Amino acid sequence: MQGLYNNRVGSILDYAAEADLSSVPNPGVHGNAYLQKTEDHCNLNLNKYLQAISLATHVTKGAGVVAMKVTSLGNPFLLERMSAVPRDELTAEERSLVERLEERMNLLGQCAQNAGVRLLVDAEQSYFQPAIDELALMMMKNWNKEESVVFNTYQCYLKDAYGKLAAHLEASDREGFSLGAKLVRGAYMKMERQRAAERGYPSPIHDTIEDTHECFDSSVSLMLEQVKRQRGQVVIASHNENSILRAMEEMERLGISSQNPGVMFGQLQGMCDYLTYSLGARGYHAYKYLPYGPLNEVMPYLIRRAQENGDVLATTDMEKYLMLAEVKRRMHAALSRATRQLLLPEYAAPRTPVH
Ligand SMILES: Cc1cc2nc3c(=O)[nH]c(=O)nc-3n(C[C@H](O)[C@H](O)[C@H](O)COP(=O)(O)OP(=O)(O)OC[C@H]3O[C@@H](n4cnc5c(N)ncnc54)[C@H](O)[C@@H]3O)c2cc1C
Repeated sequence: MQGLYNNRVGSILDYAAEADLSSVPNPGVHGNAYLQKTEDHCNLNLNKYLQAISLATHVTKGAGVVAMKVTSLGNPFLLERMSAVPRDELTAEERSLVERLEERMNLLGQCAQNAGVRLLVDAEQSYFQPAIDELALMMMKNWNKEESVVFNTYQCYLKDAYGKLAAHLEASDREGFSLGAKLVRGAYMKMERQRAAERGYPSPIHDTIEDTHECFDSSVSLMLEQVKRQRGQVVIASHNENSILRAMEEMERLGISSQNPGVMFGQLQGMCDYLTYSLGARGYHAYKYLPYGPLNEVMPYLIRRAQENGDVLATTDMEKYLMLAEVKRRMHAALSRATRQLLLPEYAAPRTPVH
């Protein structure tokens, strides 16, 4: 974190915790009860996020950002139920679990606000997303007063992403909170399409990649308008160079300075470093997502991220090109040093120290 900070790049602490329907016991086959063990695990994760907020405050001196996944704070089966049925159809047990989940999330919101740290609520699979959106909106209403402490994530590969973002902006105007939006293309595309095909409902993903690009870029424009009006803040989370250049041009057109804290750019650690460092060097608020955690949790987490981003990893030609160019440059420099030493031995002699 300190190394990035010295290079004008901020850190987004990303504790490696998440859950899916396959990773916790199904309450339906456990005597219709949600297991206390899962709740205990959520409380442990809550403590990890609280530690991350404290670390972010101390290392990054007022520019700290922490990411969180709602599936690590609430039972995935509960989130799926919350997404599928209205509140009054939940059982008494489920309603009390929802209350505990809201308490955890509000505690994080309050601590983040007190510490001056921003909290990014990650987007996950579409069968959890209505619940995640509802909880993120609740947090934004509670904690985003003058500026955005809590950010919800909008996956622009979804056909309904732009409409949802516009509806949340209307709600923020109506109810007087500042909307924080992290814009991504989305990481679960293959799984979403496969699930839709297997269950026979229309795919929620845009039919073409061009539609996704269009949705992402117009969502960026919409949010930049809000930044201009001081009614929202945005994290442009992408490795797509065209989208980043477009966003920079749009900022210039709207008269938004590169240093405006309402616009942040984010890339994953180890991906497209040339973009992050160039943005940081030009004065933009550039960040790296830093996954961390115990080895047995962080490795499967990273493997899942690599699987989800497989297409992107395979197409980062620019990054490969730049790395190769750097390797060649270093080899060339080493070779010419060695040649000079052979031809001009005095070049290799140790210099007389200056006293
Ligand atoms: C800082 C940061 C935070 C992130 N947080 C989240 C998060 O909370 N939730 C989440 O889901 N993801 C998250 N992601 C991952 C992100 O959603 C993408 O998976 C990843 O960044 C690739 O998109 P891109 O804009 O970087 O790249 P691009 O290089 O533009 O990649 C585009 C990729 O999109 C895919 N694609 C999208 N739509 C279509 C389509 N309709 N047809 C065909 N292919 C399509 C293709 O696989 C293509 O390779 C995050 C990424 C970053 C950098």
